[in-house]
Amino acid sequence: MNKRIIIGNWKMNPLTEKEAEKLFEAIAQGVSRIKKTLVVVCPPFIYLDKLTKIRTRKIKLGAQDAFFEEKGAFTGEVSPEMLYNMGVRYTILGHSERRALGETNALVNKKIRAALASGLVPILCVGEAVRDENHGYFNLVKTQLSECLDGVKKTFISKIIIAYEPIWAISSTVNRHDASAALCREMAVFIRKVISDKFGGEARSTQVIYGGSVNEIDAPDFLKDGGIDGLLAGRTSLLASKFINIVKICEALNQ
Ligand code: PEP
Repeated sequence: MNKRIIIGNWKMNPLTEKEAEKLFEAIAQGVSRIKKTLVVVCPPFIYLDKLTKIRTRKIKLGAQDAFFEEKGAFTGEVSPEMLYNMGVRYTILGHSERRALGETNALVNKKIRAALASGLVPILCVGEAVRDENHGYFNLVKTQLSECLDGVKKTFISKIIIAYEPIWAISSTVNRHDASAALCREMAVFIRKVISDKFGGEARSTQVIYGGSVNEIDAPDFLKDGGIDGLLAGRTSLLASKFINIVKICEALNQ
């Protein structure tokens, strides 16, 4: 059985490498006894190299994006091979904050295929901006899944982590509001159905996680009743003690 996963997305934080090291070291110390939970930390690209050199067997490093070509004339981009060679093993792809800057499902699809080919585990983010009365958000998530996963080989689907992140629940959204575990469960079931229709039995071990301002208070509900395999934390992952507590909550539920 796969371990449950807690992922921290630091976004464009912190401001200095020193702060990044301090935060990472504090998390590494706090999770040093964790056995049954996979902890992934995704800092900005520029801190990755330094953080790969900090000794910890309990934290895997992830990027927040990766390009779809290996090398060449692509100013500003970072390839999955470069990340892999540095010791990075995961990458967030299709985050709503990148989609807001123009990233399309077609582009995310190219990045997913390239990430898989280079050995990185893609953390594919999907989720709607609003919940309409006609439940159109199910179709939107279905389209995101089917276009982002187009052409992915059946044998690779279990290697992808799917993060359901409703934009209306993310901490950076103005007038955000909380999702409930029940609503998360409903979408997790839907996501599993969509990928199983597309990939068959191979999709059974694909992990589905939830992200949207999760904290120490609601983490137990999501983990117990949300129908998911883990959590993706943004803002909370910048506070070592809170992030560590979420990891410990997950670990305790895994006993
Ligand atoms: C995210 O944007 O990936 C995220 C989970 O953010 P937050 O927890 O801050 O809502």
